Amino acid sequence: MATRRPLVAANWKMAGSLQLAQELIQKFSRISGGSPDVVLCPPSVYLDNIQRKLEAASQTLSGCSLHLGGQNLSHQEFGAYTGEISGGMLKEFGCKYVIIGHSERRRMYGETSDMVAEKFAMAQKMGLTPILCVGESLAARQANRTFEVLAGELDAVLDKVGIMAFDNAVLAYEPLWAIGTGKSATPEQAQEVHAYLRQRLSALSPYEGEKIRILYGGSVKPSNAADLFTQPDVDGGLVGGASLNASEFVTLCRIAS
Ligand code: PEP
Repeated sequence: MATRRPLVAANWKMAGSLQLAQELIQKFSRISGGSPDVVLCPPSVYLDNIQRKLEAASQTLSGCSLHLGGQNLSHQEFGAYTGEISGGMLKEFGCKYVIIGHSERRRMYGETSDMVAEKFAMAQKMGLTPILCVGESLAARQANRTFEVLAGELDAVLDKVGIMAFDNAVLAYEPLWAIGTGKSATPEQAQEVHAYLRQRLSALSPYEGEKIRILYGGSVKPSNAADLFTQPDVDGGLVGGASLNASEFVTLCRIAS
């Protein structure tokens, strides 16, 4: 069995501050012993400043694997796309990862699965590791359509990029009914879906299926993280609300390590 290094990603959405970044860096500087891979995804206007802060603290952060990520990128490389940010720009400002297909982008900004697939490909072309989000609505779950929805979202990307592209990707299961609601999936529900997603990838390549990290996202907090993160197919978390509190987020990272 592959050993997958845990990963915890902070999705600040349109929130957070440079002060929060400073607090997080200070807290991570005090961590000794194992840490998971940690990815901070702040609003893009903060990236330059946070990158400098990370560089300045690099000596004290040597025990941590702390990276920057974008929350979204354009499916185009450059050009007349007012308000968009390219993968190349994210890369230039220190990003290693980028969140793709978050349900808020799909729902509020009309991102279709085809667009998500294009963004996934563009992220990789620009040297970024995509964190691909998939998840079902409450209505889909109640109609027993969870696996069908997830398969559709995953296959749209697989069809475009192929299984080998998942060698450099992270998958995040984010049930829509759990995001920002305070009601997380149960560990059993998360494990069932993660095992399904892994098996779907393994059917195409046992190596990639076993290797890929699958994060759980949706109301993760210190009180439920241990039960979620110890599920065999849960390799860490994508954290929204709790990533805006430095103490809570660092606690989550400790739990994942
Ligand atoms: C998210 O938006 O990706 C998320 C998981 O949010 P929350 O942790 O607040 O549910």
